[in-house]
Amino acid sequence: MPKRVALIAMVVPLLWVLAGNTEGADGNAKGSGRIEKMDFGKTPDGTPVEMYVLKNGKMTAKVITYGGIITELHVPDAKGKTTDIVLGFDHLEGYLAGHPYFGAAVGRVANRVAKGKFTLDGKEYTLAVNNGPNSLHGGLKGFDKVVWKAEEVSSPSGPALKLSYVSRDGEEGYPGNVTATITYTVTADDELRIDYTATTDQATPINLTNHSYFNLGGPASGNILRHELFLTADKYTPADDTLIPTGEIKPVQGTPFDFTSSTQIGARFAQLKGEPIGYDLNYVLPAAGKEPALAARVHDPESGRILEVLTTEPGIQFYSGNFLDGTLKGKGGVVYQKHQGFCLEAQHFPDSIHHPNFPSTILKPGETYTQTTIYRFLAR
Ligand code: BGC
Repeated sequence: MPKRVALIAMVVPLLWVLAGNTEGADGNAKGSGRIEKMDFGKTPDGTPVEMYVLKNGKMTAKVITYGGIITELHVPDAKGKTTDIVLGFDHLEGYLAGHPYFGAAVGRVANRVAKGKFTLDGKEYTLAVNNGPNSLHGGLKGFDKVVWKAEEVSSPSGPALKLSYVSRDGEEGYPGNVTATITYTVTADDELRIDYTATTDQATPINLTNHSYFNLGGPASGNILRHELFLTADKYTPADDTLIPTGEIKPVQGTPFDFTSSTQIGARFAQLKGEPIGYDLNYVLPAAGKEPALAARVHDPESGRILEVLTTEPGIQFYSGNFLDGTLKGKGGVVYQKHQGFCLEAQHFPDSIHHPNFPSTILKPGETYTQTTIYRFLAR
């Protein structure tokens, strides 16, 4: 080979690598990953919605600016085959038409506020009652139904997207102007990391989470009842018929809620009460703190995929998709039947505002709310 050609042959690949463009033999980007932006339609008032595609290694996450929704999450199985493992829709219209929070960012207050009323600093606030007698997931137009401002941010861990939204004083009945941010990062270790922050100019309750419905075999594979669940929680918050906690914190031991050793989700349905049957319960995590700690591990023996949930939050709602009823047609025309997906919503406890013995959800001016939750994927 002539000398000059040989030099070019050496230098060009080196520059390519330095630019973070390393391609594995399988054609997937390794290392720093990449992020792409595309149009995802418009809301009825003409606001454009974008989709961001975050890729790192074999993992791809798609997030839209409407509701901060994770629309797709592609992860490898035990044989290295990558599949989208979250429920959702192919087009914005599906999300606009109404759905049970598929993939959505939930706020200002995830989960329930009893009777849609609370008193803070001597003043009574009234929220929309949108779930039996209670207020659920931020009200009629919560964080799941607003268009967030997007910014690609640099992170040493991988491609990252920062969404921000200013929720005005009085929005959905809550006090204070609240600025919220959510940063989604896809790391080289097959993790989707979600970092939340919020600040306020008046005391107000805040409880943010993500409401992804997972099916580790892919939503077309049927229900999740044979997935095996492990939870680090050995306590839970018992609730009344409308899913408002009684205020007690009870051990799971000896109940069908005990997942401290890995158990098939559907194994103890016969022991559960209520209709539709399934789990819809807040667990008390043993290790809430500044660093995300393991809260849950789910294994799908058929695909070999494993999801680990790590969080800084004190609680996690385990919901087994009980209210999916075959009326929604999702991605690729798949009809979502009962238990076709499960949610693990890292959060503060439901109705915390009415329970002084629960960790407080009140954010005050000058403070910054933070929460980090990591969805980590493995396969065996
Ligand atoms: C709640 C369920 C509800 C679902 C969808 C979960 O967080 O606990 O009761 O049906 O969200 O709204």
